[in-house]
Amino acid sequence: MLAERLSRIRGYLLDMDGTLYIGDRAVPGAVELMRALQGRPHLVLTNNSSASRRRYRDRLTALGMPVRLDDVLTSGEASAQWLFDNTPLRRPYVLGTRALSDACRRAGLTPATADDADSVLLGYDTTLRYARWSDACLLVAAGLPYYATHADRTCISPRGLLPDAGAIIAGIEVTTGRSPVVLGKPEAAMVEAGLRRLGTSAEETLILGDQLDTDMQLGLRSGVLAVLTMTGEAARRAPEMPEIKPDLSVSGPAELLALLRDAGALPRA
Ligand SMILES: [Mg+2]
Repeated sequence: MLAERLSRIRGYLLDMDGTLYIGDRAVPGAVELMRALQGRPHLVLTNNSSASRRRYRDRLTALGMPVRLDDVLTSGEASAQWLFDNTPLRRPYVLGTRALSDACRRAGLTPATADDADSVLLGYDTTLRYARWSDACLLVAAGLPYYATHADRTCISPRGLLPDAGAIIAGIEVTTGRSPVVLGKPEAAMVEAGLRRLGTSAEETLILGDQLDTDMQLGLRSGVLAVLTMTGEAARRAPEMPEIKPDLSVSGPAELLALLRDAGALPRA
């Protein structure tokens, strides 16, 4: 049953942090998996909307995993594309980094001032300033359509957990009582943008990730095969979320590669 499903996989969504690398080291087997996927539809994903595609491309390349700029899908890219495709909104007030504003422009949106905005788009704003946070609160309180690239509460760092987009969202919620429509993993926008770029159906696609509440939830909600890797966050947090059951669990990218080869989805080395 599972082997049959695996045999039909043609498209690959791969979480990066905790799945392909941890800190500045490649996860064992990740380089081999990425090399096996060269020339096949695949995207590397991150919910982090603070950094640019280029930074992820450079980081993976330095670890021996060559990817093209177009193979990188951030929640910022996916959100901007989704807003353009699914709403008439074109002038978001962007509470985010320059990378998010750039992603909006690439998708056909024009980042606007508080006076001219038709919506609010919130990302992981590592350049957060009080004046802009306040403006966003006023616009949200005034009733503008309000979106967020993702709602992760914390960002893991060598110094400990840091406030992520969810913490910025919480401040706006305390102030205005409103919470945003979230567009990144595990929400539909990320899958829709990903599948459109891959050109595959959900049925023919798998997602490999280490987080149950984002990566696996995305797969289970959308019909994309949800493959949990026990490399990053997962092993520690799996018991907290017994209701989220991945389609398949693997010890790491090497085991997935072996299964895909056994099923005939990928040629043998
Ligand atoms: Mg991850």
